[in-house]
Amino acid sequence: MNLKTLTIILSLLLSMEVTGDSLVIENITLIDAKNPVRLNQSVVIKNGRIETIVNSSQSVSANDKKDRIIDGSGKFLIPGLWDAHVHLTFIPEIDHETYFKLFLKNGITSIRDTGAIIEKLQPSINYLKENPEKTPRLFYAGPLIDGKDRVYKGEEPGFPELSIGIDENSNIEDVVNDLLENGVTFLKSYEMLSKETYLELLQIAKKNNLRVTGHIPLSIDLEEAIDAGLGGMQHVRNMDLACSQDAPELLTKRRAKLENKNNIAGSALRTNIHSSQRYYSIDNHDAKRCLRIIKKLAASGVFQTPTLTINTFGSRRFYADEQWRETYEYLPKQIRLEWQKDSLTLAEKDIANNDLIFDKWSLDLVNIMNQEGVKIIAGTDTPIGYLTPGYSLHKELELLFEAGMTTKEVLRSATITPAEFLNIENEIGTIEEGMLADLLILNGNPLKSIKNTQSIHIVISKGIVQ
Ligand SMILES: [Zn+2]
Repeated sequence: MNLKTLTIILSLLLSMEVTGDSLVIENITLIDAKNPVRLNQSVVIKNGRIETIVNSSQSVSANDKKDRIIDGSGKFLIPGLWDAHVHLTFIPEIDHETYFKLFLKNGITSIRDTGAIIEKLQPSINYLKENPEKTPRLFYAGPLIDGKDRVYKGEEPGFPELSIGIDENSNIEDVVNDLLENGVTFLKSYEMLSKETYLELLQIAKKNNLRVTGHIPLSIDLEEAIDAGLGGMQHVRNMDLACSQDAPELLTKRRAKLENKNNIAGSALRTNIHSSQRYYSIDNHDAKRCLRIIKKLAASGVFQTPTLTINTFGSRRFYADEQWRETYEYLPKQIRLEWQKDSLTLAEKDIANNDLIFDKWSLDLVNIMNQEGVKIIAGTDTPIGYLTPGYSLHKELELLFEAGMTTKEVLRSATITPAEFLNIENEIGTIEEGMLADLLILNGNPLKSIKNTQSIHIVISKGIVQ
């Protein structure tokens, strides 16, 4: 396995083309996060790509017959959106067809699965290959790569099997090669990895040109992980611990707990560590230290997927909103009923003060990171937390805006930046000639209000009108 392998996987994924009809969208305003706003444009789509873009006053070559013409007057064309943090196998009762329909219906034309056992993901992968014309693009990490005491091993309620465990006795090179052979395009590390194993994983990933994102192992200092080539972080997890004025002492205490002398389950040990350190760390936040770390994240190009929708699970409580619960109607019956019942029960509880603290802390942190130039990626963690696939991404965009990002920056986080994470930004994420034709026609201008991404007129995926 070498650099070429990843490039081949990615180009295969991107060229999963469908020889659809040719299409022209006329008189439309083009909005992407790279170019200035372009008014009155005609966009010609052929073989899944944007073939030409001309001002609508110039007629698109008349002898070149188009199968379909869409009038874009008063509408806005944006690149298809990404949800860059999903778990397709977390709730087995939600089938892949339901997921893919909900993503496309909501304008999400690319997804990144951030943790799934390959064999369990395989039916989704097969379905995508067989039905490219009605599915989003899928990029996946394969399993969470965890340590000896792994968290998601399918043995405790709420912790399905999503991971593999590696330690100093594992042949990590073989593990990574095996994942590459199964089509992964990045890796996801998890919290119970030992420091030594994690550092070795980062090195092997680097050799294979794979970015490692995920939860920073509890055994390592964040700055050391950045220096060792960390590629990305999820949920701004570990920033709490790293930004505490007592960060070094907290790390020493964590390492002692991680020895796990009482041999408790990994999931319980992980929860125990977070509950003993998270709010203490936030209470003892050291702003200067934190800024130094954030600047380091920016300088090292470490991507952040804050998943504000899941970080604010206890404070925003989408599940307590009747309108939100209406989105459950698209889920399989058993899950719909379960979510409705559990949502109502949960909604009766008061909001805990810690949830409000974590909410504010998460949004403030995203704001500072964005201002300091850290690359922010939009992702949700759906279907965890009653976050309905597709609909939840738009909530994430609203939260990123509320945190302080501009509408254009939010748009970037769900189009160009996830593509940059995979080094495919020359293929996808902007509206330019030659780019892949994953596009949304919106009724309102998303730069005026990010909520306008919810007012979708037409979704075009792989050059095909959905
Ligand atoms: Zn996740």
